[in-house]
Amino acid sequence: MPVLLNIGQLATCRADGGQREIHTVDAAALAWDGGTITWAGPAPALPAHLHEQETLDAGGRLVIPGLVDCHTHLAFAGWRADEFERRLRGESYLEIARAGGGIERTVRETRAASAEALRERATATLDAMACRGVTTVECKSGYGLDGETEIKLLEIYRTIANTHRQRLLTTFLAHAVPPEHRAHRAGYVDWLCRDLIPRIAREHLASFCDVFVEDGAFSIEEGKAILETGQRSGLRAKVHADQLSDSGGASLAARLGAVSADHLEHISPQGIAHLRQSGTVAVSLPIASAVLGQPPMPARSLIDAGVPVGVATDYNPGSAPSHDLPLALWLACTLQRMTPAEALKGATVVAARACGVEVEVGSLEAGKAADFALVDASDVLDWLYRFRPDGRIDTWAGGTQLTVTTLR
Ligand SMILES: [Zn+2]
Repeated sequence: MPVLLNIGQLATCRADGGQREIHTVDAAALAWDGGTITWAGPAPALPAHLHEQETLDAGGRLVIPGLVDCHTHLAFAGWRADEFERRLRGESYLEIARAGGGIERTVRETRAASAEALRERATATLDAMACRGVTTVECKSGYGLDGETEIKLLEIYRTIANTHRQRLLTTFLAHAVPPEHRAHRAGYVDWLCRDLIPRIAREHLASFCDVFVEDGAFSIEEGKAILETGQRSGLRAKVHADQLSDSGGASLAARLGAVSADHLEHISPQGIAHLRQSGTVAVSLPIASAVLGQPPMPARSLIDAGVPVGVATDYNPGSAPSHDLPLALWLACTLQRMTPAEALKGATVVAARACGVEVEVGSLEAGKAADFALVDASDVLDWLYRFRPDGRIDTWAGGTQLTVTTLR
């Protein structure tokens, strides 16, 4: 039963209280047994029997819960650096998409890639995420669009989940209507609802069903049909909502009791009110807002209204080609005016809620998974103020150290 001593600040991130309340403990200790936390609190209060256990020295550093990246498109092939430059020169996301770039281009490359190549790249990304403190990752399909490739992506996630120590949560994403079905949209949505989504649920390949509700992707009515099919099959709803325009996606998410509504750069005051009533988590993706040069999600309005706000990377080859969740936290502060504490809560216990795993992970409390990260900073404010991509982060998942640095 190891005990971690000499913790400068322990950010427990318990769920109670508002977004800004992360329940820190200075001069703390943390004990775990196997994969489960058994004690967390001020070091002077450490129970006597734990003094005799194996001890590790945190060196006065900050300790946070293992970060939860609650929105990623982890498995895909190819990059789109040239589109990054085209957007910087003035072309819009939708213009590039309509010219055969965007999602369609990644779909072509992902369909052509072998499962082995996709798996290797996804696991390398997960390893890199571990070095940034991430222990739980939500992974979406959505770069196949046909049955064969969507199933291939979800099976890759299942294989990785069985071999990696990080916790993976899998989502089927209805991302776009593929070009071969564009003339028969209704038939494609019908096939999703009658065939693919029930099959994915039957084979336990996903826990969530997500849909991109946007001009150029799916309408509100199509999104509703897809999400309701998912719910009838046992898949909880998530929505890519109000990213490029106020399309009513947030209100749809609220009406269906979705676990999260993600993006929300263009959410209306009415959408905010609906999310507050439904208890749906609003997931912000500030890397995507920055890359696309969009106004950020109005996080302050959401938090002030009492909506829990998550923070995630949206890791994908188009709008968010970075897997760095601490970078997203820093952008949540600088672009969305969230405080460091609010941002951290958004990538821990609030993000866990957006993935339906808040009972198991997301905070440092007895009974929860021993998933935590030692950050080379004195406290949360110091960490996100002096954001240092080279700052060392030692990450543990299920009581096992994932990253290589050896503690004394
Ligand atoms: Zn996304």
